[in-house]
Amino acid sequence: MFRPVLGIIGGGQLGSLLASAAKSIDIKTVILCDDNDAPAKHFADEFIHGEYNDENTLKKFLYKSDIITYEFENIPFLTLKTLESSKKVIPKPEINRVIQNRLFEKDFVNKCNLRTTMYQHIKSKNDLEASNFFPGLLKTCTLGYDGKGQYKLNNKEDIDNFNIDYSNEYIIEKFVNLKKEISVVLTRFGHQRYEIYDPIENVHEDQILKFSYLPAIIDDQIRDKSKEWASILAEELDYIGTMCVEFFIDKNDNLYVNEIAPRVHNSGHLTLNAYNISQFENHIRAVCGLEKIKIERQYDAKMINLIGSQINEYRGKKLNENEYFYDYLKKEIKEKRKMGHLTILNKKD
Ligand code: ADP
Ligand code: MG
Repeated sequence: MFRPVLGIIGGGQLGSLLASAAKSIDIKTVILCDDNDAPAKHFADEFIHGEYNDENTLKKFLYKSDIITYEFENIPFLTLKTLESSKKVIPKPEINRVIQNRLFEKDFVNKCNLRTTMYQHIKSKNDLEASNFFPGLLKTCTLGYDGKGQYKLNNKEDIDNFNIDYSNEYIIEKFVNLKKEISVVLTRFGHQRYEIYDPIENVHEDQILKFSYLPAIIDDQIRDKSKEWASILAEELDYIGTMCVEFFIDKNDNLYVNEIAPRVHNSGHLTLNAYNISQFENHIRAVCGLEKIKIERQYDAKMINLIGSQINEYRGKKLNENEYFYDYLKKEIKEKRKMGHLTILNKKD
């Protein structure tokens, strides 16, 4: 059978884990990244270093790839469109354009009649001063991740306590009193053809994911609703591949869509060990048009993100039989940088 060569844009840990999963099902990968020290270099069959808007780099990447996918959102739309003019780019560039902008993303979710937090577009200091979305979180419309580009504003007086760059566009979001955060990872293979993983419960520290638990401890109604909402979003986007929907649950058990990730997701790392087919393998299967296999959860699991120097505790450590350690092999340890993760499996309840 013809096995396409998969081009992946982005060379972080998600690219590494995609490349490893591809290898396990006999798919070759080429990674394109603007960082020559990208960790995925250690895991892919080929690595191309260059800027995402450099014509020659893109040509080289196109020449090597049969199908193209990506592992992060912040890719210029023009880059994806240029690539799409000669090879299949999955998920479609238009999907990424909507999701990479928090304002477009939230507008889209509301158009699907699904609940988000209350939010308002902020284009200037005047807009912010006129807003009544306090306490709130001011977030850049583009390029934010792991809480970067976010300001917690308890009241209007707080506005001047931060050095906010008003040349960026923002949204301000009403702060939600959170009971829990969960995520739903799914892989869509085509019209109404899904594999949906059980909702995962997520605990953040400093707005960075720290722990994920499978399954999430939530009532059946919220579990069903979150899976249904995630599949509505995937269907409306006509999405192909693995995506993730992050949800908030407030103290009154209201469900809100927080974010959509048009890619594999950190909270889904535990699918590598807890399911017969991981989110990574499923992404490759869907994007490359391979067989869809029914997923089965084999274990309960907990995932711990190893951030900054925490990685040192696990390098060379003897692990228990139910523990799986992933070292992303990043060149430099930095504070707040995701360096690796540990998954601990338990028997299913
Ligand atoms: P990022 O792109 O950095 O993941 P998120 O919007 O998901 O941005 O915010 C990161 C985390 O910050 C969330 O997972 C949540 O813990 C917290 N957070 C974000 N927005 C709100 C909100 N409106 N109310 C309460 N907590 C929030
Ligand atoms: Mg998030």
